[in-house]
Amino acid sequence: MLQLQNFINGQFVPPANGRYLDNVEPATGQVYSQIPDSDTTDVQQAVAAAQAAFPAWRALPAEKRGRLLVRIAELIERDLERLAQAESQDNGKPVALARTVDIPRAASNFAFFGTGIGHFSSESHFQEGQSLNYTVRHPLGVVACISPWNLPLYLFTWKIAPALAAGNCVVAKPSEITPATAYWLGELCQEAGLPAGVLNIVHGTGPGAGQAMVEHPAIKAISFTGGTKTGEHIARTAAPMFKKLSLELGGKNPNLIFADCDLAAAVSTSIQSSFANQGQICLCGSRIFIERPIYEQFKELFLARVAGLAVGDPQLATSRQGALVSEAHLNKVLSYIELARQEGGTLLAGGQRVQVPGRCADGFFLQPTVFEGLAPDCRTNREEIFGPVVTLTPFDTEDEALNWANGTDYGLSATIWTTDLDRAHRVAHQLHAGVVWINTWLLRDLRTPFGGMKNSGVGREGGLEALRFFTEPQNVCVRL
Ligand code: NAD
Repeated sequence: MLQLQNFINGQFVPPANGRYLDNVEPATGQVYSQIPDSDTTDVQQAVAAAQAAFPAWRALPAEKRGRLLVRIAELIERDLERLAQAESQDNGKPVALARTVDIPRAASNFAFFGTGIGHFSSESHFQEGQSLNYTVRHPLGVVACISPWNLPLYLFTWKIAPALAAGNCVVAKPSEITPATAYWLGELCQEAGLPAGVLNIVHGTGPGAGQAMVEHPAIKAISFTGGTKTGEHIARTAAPMFKKLSLELGGKNPNLIFADCDLAAAVSTSIQSSFANQGQICLCGSRIFIERPIYEQFKELFLARVAGLAVGDPQLATSRQGALVSEAHLNKVLSYIELARQEGGTLLAGGQRVQVPGRCADGFFLQPTVFEGLAPDCRTNREEIFGPVVTLTPFDTEDEALNWANGTDYGLSATIWTTDLDRAHRVAHQLHAGVVWINTWLLRDLRTPFGGMKNSGVGREGGLEALRFFTEPQNVCVRL
């Protein structure tokens, strides 16, 4: 059985304690590899390697650092098929999705920041006859990147690439549930010639390896994506140590569908935003509010499309829905389906675990599920389910839709469907969401600030925001 290793100081090494964790393939329910159950000792080794590599890495001209990152991007593209297969096996997502979204985006992350660092200029402020101030942006030193299981390589590299581009050395931990592509990334970094210790990848659990990273005094900043509860815990640990924190957390995103929208496009994209990656994208819209005059029509078209979403082996091109990431997560989502029933919801589609015949008989599959008739403020409509479960709710006025959309503790993203330009902007500005899409969903420009309001996070990733996060500004004032 494949046994993954940590990547520390440019070498693949076993965990110091010799312990390993089983890694399960969600589509089959079978253990197919093992990963290090790393602890403080491994993290200390990784931090020491990063500290040793830092002076030379920060001294390397930004253009040379950037070229190395672009080389890694090219190698990811070269190995796209192998990485897509690995991502699909590890996560349960359709291989077609990994091939078209996850892995290309991981390559783009490296290419974007590898070239972007060359355009990252410092600010200066001139006061005639008085002073010239200029700002130097120093790399922080050793930083931690901790990522979740839903978009494994995509989100892992979204943090690592800007951190490295800005001149930091990194200790990174992928989710213990989806470690595979992070492991292969280590190999590609070796091949690209990334100097030893610049990127260290430590595998293991959150309470084990993750907590040791958060507590390590030499780690100056933590870029974390994951659940809101975990983010809260990390903030509590890191705040007294004055570490910089970027927290990308949960969501409960609304789709607002107005009667004047392009209905076919709204239905088609809402299918994507509800069920892509089995609903396991932080940006998925799980609460669909539809203006009453088109409610029945939207519902009918939406349900017809849901019926066509084939659930099956992620390796097959015909499968539109793969497996959920783990049995524990499947059970959590099923418990929310039960809750929605108890809260008085009417089940319009799905609701059941799916038995896929053949090699996937023990996999963690679930039907795409749709409810209506739930109060906008019930738990089903306020808590993050993070699975293929959505609710449909009619609304009568713009204010009502806005109140309901804003009526959760989360504020990550929102989608508006309308052809009324005034309304589109008016509603967008009143939504408590860090990202608002108008007549589209998940259309990304990597230069834009990305992140959530309220309990969906602190800080923003993307473009210059990420490069600012991973640097410490120092102002130098010269008297004229
Ligand atoms: P999680 O919080 O359980 O784990 C995320 C990562 O944190 C994992 O690597 C885990 O091992 C680690 N971790 C857990 N406890 C830790 C600790 N005490 N110290 C340090 N690290 C620790 O989240 P998950 O279940 O892997 O991912 C799903 C969640 O991620 C959902 O809530 C989803 O909304 C969120 N998410 C948010 C975004 C975003 O951009 N806002 C993107 C994707 C996913």
